[in-house]
Amino acid sequence: MSITAEPRTPADNSSVTTAGTQPPLNTFETFDPRTNTLIAEIEEMGPEQVEQAVDRARYLAGAWSALTYKERSRHLLHVRDRLLNSAEELVDTICAETGKQRAEAVTTELMAVCETIGWYAKNGGQVLMPQSVAPGLMAHKKAWKRYEPLGVIGVISPWNYPFTLSMTPVITALFAGNTVVLKPSEVTPTVGLAIGELFEDENWGDIVQVVTGGGATGEALVRSGVDKVCFTGSVRTGKRVMAAAADSLTPVLLELGGKDPMIVCADADLARASKGAVWGAFQNSGQTCMSVERFYVEEAVFEDFVERVLVETAQIRQNASGGDIGSMTFAPQLAIVEDHIADAVSKGARILAGGKRLDQPGLWFEPTVLVDVDHTMSIMVEETFGPVMPIMSVKDPEEGLRLANDSIYGLNSSVWTSDQQLGISIANRLEAGNVCINDCIVSYAIPGLPFGGVKQSGIGRVHGPEGLREFSSVKSVMSSRVTTPREMWWFPVPKALEALGITSARARFGTTLATRIKRFKRTT
Ligand code: NAD
Repeated sequence: MSITAEPRTPADNSSVTTAGTQPPLNTFETFDPRTNTLIAEIEEMGPEQVEQAVDRARYLAGAWSALTYKERSRHLLHVRDRLLNSAEELVDTICAETGKQRAEAVTTELMAVCETIGWYAKNGGQVLMPQSVAPGLMAHKKAWKRYEPLGVIGVISPWNYPFTLSMTPVITALFAGNTVVLKPSEVTPTVGLAIGELFEDENWGDIVQVVTGGGATGEALVRSGVDKVCFTGSVRTGKRVMAAAADSLTPVLLELGGKDPMIVCADADLARASKGAVWGAFQNSGQTCMSVERFYVEEAVFEDFVERVLVETAQIRQNASGGDIGSMTFAPQLAIVEDHIADAVSKGARILAGGKRLDQPGLWFEPTVLVDVDHTMSIMVEETFGPVMPIMSVKDPEEGLRLANDSIYGLNSSVWTSDQQLGISIANRLEAGNVCINDCIVSYAIPGLPFGGVKQSGIGRVHGPEGLREFSSVKSVMSSRVTTPREMWWFPVPKALEALGITSARARFGTTLATRIKRFKRTT
């Protein structure tokens, strides 16, 4: 990796050359979005390098999978120690490529990963223990299932949480006994390389290989023969990944985008709801897959809620030296934010706060509050992924619920009410993989809770037992309790089998008067 400190903007391609020479074709550049200055020039790896990385990972897969859960945990806990020892440098690297605030990087990236490692070290062995299964009709047999590693996992990650969203699948895959090839986002490659360094170890250095590059490198990884792809990113790219994986029937775990709704009922604690709303919309400059991106507020409290939101928004500190929110990360994303706002305004939305870039270098965009919005506007139906809060008035919580479910997405969601029963009733009917009652986003911070989307927000889960088993193959095993010369149904089929079958089916499944009475009692 070559590092240059010379200020340069991403769009300013002419200044990329040195002394009249073109940059080598196989490199790309990464920038600090707070200042638009160049951070590093990084190698763009092609299919051959990707295959070599997969081969190296596969070479170690057998030996790594032979370790016990305790041994794998010990290794991951060493990685956590290394992470903690270099915490400040990691935060520097994360903030330089994303523009996020340091405290945000510490809590949402480092702490989240430390917690997840701890959860797997404590609970993972139990989750992957072989489990016996009742043999049912096969009473003379015993049956069990065991979880086995898949082999080599390809992890492709995005730029918005470049550490957490790379490390979470990486450590989960490793705990389950796989080795990994990681392709970090081309927007945040130095974070990916820092992850590779965390795993450098005399004996096990190759269990995590990092390949750098853009979409072509990612596609090469999908087509490389890895045993599963864990992709986190946009719906658009997720569809491409799934299509490419279909050629070899490579399984995919897809963690995709969202348009997370927040329903505010008239009986909600408005002080808490408005503060939570502002945080949910603007933390990480709105660049969280679970950012709250649309607000449905009961008309009885709409004005009060909006006023409170404006007061909270006015207090947000946005600067590079320790404010509440940082810059945005990726110039094309900022352009989408501006497009969505322009579309909404052209259709009648009003901007009550923000609405434009800060007048300074870098990708800074003001926290923005919009009202008079509806579902004809892209701001209410497409992922914006920026610091924008469109608030819509609804007649009652049921209308809020209907509009919340009127979406191709289903990642996270929230309902705010002081009536716990109402909250649970709405939570149960929200079409989303995750729901928070009187809170938002932070359900992801519970590593025992599976996380993932429904509808076009994804396929599969990370975190929790379900997340760990995503990186395993389940093998079903059956064996005999007693050895007999033959099974009853083998050839030649005994004449008595038909009659015996009917008699035993009636005995087993037929309803006698006694069982009917028992059933009646159970259901009344
Ligand atoms: P993206 O889809 O543009 O890129 C994600 C990754 O895919 C990058 O590493 C990129 O290089 C790679 N890629 C691009 N084309 C590819 C291809 N054809 N084959 C294989 N890989 C390819 O997403 P992004 O802009 O980096 O991230 C933002 C998106 O990610 C948002 O939509 C956000 O909601 C989503 N996201 C989802 C979750 C989740 O857990 N559900 C978490 C964070 C972000």
